[in-house]
Amino acid sequence: MALTSSYFDEGTLIGVLTTQPLDRVLDYRAPEGGCHLGAFVEVPLGPRKVLGVVWGPGRGDYDLSKIRSVIRVLDAAPMREELMAFLSRAGDYTLTPMSAMLRLATRAPGLGDPPSMRKVYRLGDSIPDRMTDARSRVLDALRDMGGLSLTLKELAEAAGVTTSVVKGLAKLGAVREEDTPRDTPFPTLDPNYAGKDLTADQTSAAAALRADVATRSYGTTLLKGVTGSGKTEVYLEAVAECLAQGRQALVLLPEIALTAEFLTRVDVRFGAKPAEWHSGVTMTERRRVWKMTAQGGAQLVVGARSALFLPFRDLGLIVVDEEHDTSYKQEDGVLYNARDMAVLRASICGAQVILASATPSLESWANADAGKYKKLELTSRFGAAILPEMRAIDMRHEQLPGSSWISPTLQRAVHQRLDNNEQALLFINRRGYAPVTICRACGHQIGCDHCDARMVEHRFLKRLVCHQCGETKPMPTTCPSCEAEDRLAAVGPGVERLAEEAQSLFPDARLAVLSSDMFGSARALKAEIETIAEGGADLIIGTQLVAKGHNFPLLTLVGVIDADLGLQGSDLRAAERTFQLMRQVAGRAGRAEKPGQALMQTYQPEHPVIRAILSGDEKDFWSAEAGERRAAGVPPYGRLAGIILSSTDVQEVFDLGNALARNDGPLRRVGAQVFGPAPAPIARVRGRHRVRLLVKAPKGTALQPALAEWVAPFRLKGELRMAIDIDPQSFY
Ligand code: ADP
Ligand code: ZN
Repeated sequence: MALTSSYFDEGTLIGVLTTQPLDRVLDYRAPEGGCHLGAFVEVPLGPRKVLGVVWGPGRGDYDLSKIRSVIRVLDAAPMREELMAFLSRAGDYTLTPMSAMLRLATRAPGLGDPPSMRKVYRLGDSIPDRMTDARSRVLDALRDMGGLSLTLKELAEAAGVTTSVVKGLAKLGAVREEDTPRDTPFPTLDPNYAGKDLTADQTSAAAALRADVATRSYGTTLLKGVTGSGKTEVYLEAVAECLAQGRQALVLLPEIALTAEFLTRVDVRFGAKPAEWHSGVTMTERRRVWKMTAQGGAQLVVGARSALFLPFRDLGLIVVDEEHDTSYKQEDGVLYNARDMAVLRASICGAQVILASATPSLESWANADAGKYKKLELTSRFGAAILPEMRAIDMRHEQLPGSSWISPTLQRAVHQRLDNNEQALLFINRRGYAPVTICRACGHQIGCDHCDARMVEHRFLKRLVCHQCGETKPMPTTCPSCEAEDRLAAVGPGVERLAEEAQSLFPDARLAVLSSDMFGSARALKAEIETIAEGGADLIIGTQLVAKGHNFPLLTLVGVIDADLGLQGSDLRAAERTFQLMRQVAGRAGRAEKPGQALMQTYQPEHPVIRAILSGDEKDFWSAEAGERRAAGVPPYGRLAGIILSSTDVQEVFDLGNALARNDGPLRRVGAQVFGPAPAPIARVRGRHRVRLLVKAPKGTALQPALAEWVAPFRLKGELRMAIDIDPQSFY
């Protein structure tokens, strides 16, 4: 790319990459006044006008007389060569067409609109004489925003009213209408605002990270530390150094619900809040973040994985917090792993990466061992907090009546905490009331009409829900198969059913149930988490959601209802995931002065993974796990790619799968093997039959070009779809 001229005079032949699903960069002529390499442009495509980026000189292999001109250059900073290179390499790695990569990098509305004023609404001074339900919802929505303003559309949507209700209130003076400029810079963060006194451990880790950031070059560090050891405090020092260098920083979090707490911590440390980028952010705000990262008006962005594709002007640091978290892998559309892509982008733009975790992925361990990543470790919790004591409850020796899951031993432990005015958490990694609904008369299990999956009863929603496709239906009273009445029964526990049991065992305890499907908005969830942290509940019943990084200072007991749950199944990472999840959940206990305890109910206390979790002997666990993976030649000691074929026609999918398996020449030439086709573990989703093939290759194989060559001859006709998943994380 260095050879490419960066400016094209009017009329020059240029190549434009558009967001339309075409396989190539299209030729156009540079518009009046010329254009820069990377410029965002509007070009004609057939009868339409589409968004594109000037990607380089034109190819000139198209009838020159038919080539049209760029319509206009948009009012946005041209895409930097660093980002263009990142998109190309990420596209090559994930075998994603460039148009789809460009769509990832342009996910904000009205990118090219000129700066202008817009009308926003805030709370006014007067209260209308006549209060209607709709009107009070508008005022409530504004109060919830805490002084922030909303556009007409956003406000109407937030309140669930028509825009005329808002306008009516504006006329009455109950809300104020104001003109504000769009896309203003974010408040300045001061790297020297309020540093904390760090412990000796923290100080040396922070100093090492600061020194790395100061080199203004690429490097990756694994920051490992038990939960509560101050990893966040330490990496905020690296952010401070990055800001002091005048460069931008990005912090990725695995869960939107964690952002609120993080924003507050940034505010305390730097005197202002950073920019936010995730699905809960309004469209106007997204546009502002996109523009400001390009112009340098956003020094720090905290966000979800897609923030990696923002047009930073000078990115100097990327933090991937809870780097082991599976949500960093995008599982639909473009299948990429944000942790790996963060390393790629940083290596291109000369930035540092910090991978923070209490329980790093085996991939990152292996990279640190191999010397590719540096490693820093924080070994003790901050202050008086110590790690919880971990014990197993051997369920083979517990007396439990049917349809109950809290063992007498665990009950006693909970009672003890309640008596001491401390909090306890009961953890079960299953949403809903019960995973299975069975007919007692005929044995039929209620399944989804569109998927090979059982439907999960959600009493809170009063419906059955398919966790694969999201389809819901009311809970029937008669069996759909034998039509027997009132014989349907719930089998097995979900978080709602556990809450029911807990309420009857501990009738005086104030219960809080935390499950991702129970909160309409991130804001409601944040409020609930704050209430719990302040002591507004005695007993917390939660799913995976509670395992991720929240701070509950009063919590001293964690009870895991079914520690064996994740060990079933054939997922290559089952042991790793269970180990990480159990240690994370246990880490919720004893984060303040009082010591914590974690009790894990298990039917197989002698299972090596359970033993490793209890002993906390990480080195042993990881070396055993690494040994097994090495022997099997699977990641991180070998390469995998998943091919998922789907169609409404089952024969068609298998025919394609078999044809692929037979014609594996390009794979064999690089030493790769193909397994399958086999029906996917969930063989039908949303009415589409699913078949998988698995490609396995030695580490270091250039797998992607071989895969591309292998699948190229196969045309996907009609309903057939193919997805290629490089480094698959899930095998469903
Ligand atoms: P981690 O990210 O490793 O889980 P945190 O950075 O969240 O740990 O630290 C845990 C708690 O201890 C937080 O409330 C944090 O503010 C506090 N803490 C950690 N280090 C310090 C310090 N040096 N001074 C004051 N408070 C600290
Ligand atoms: Zn379904």
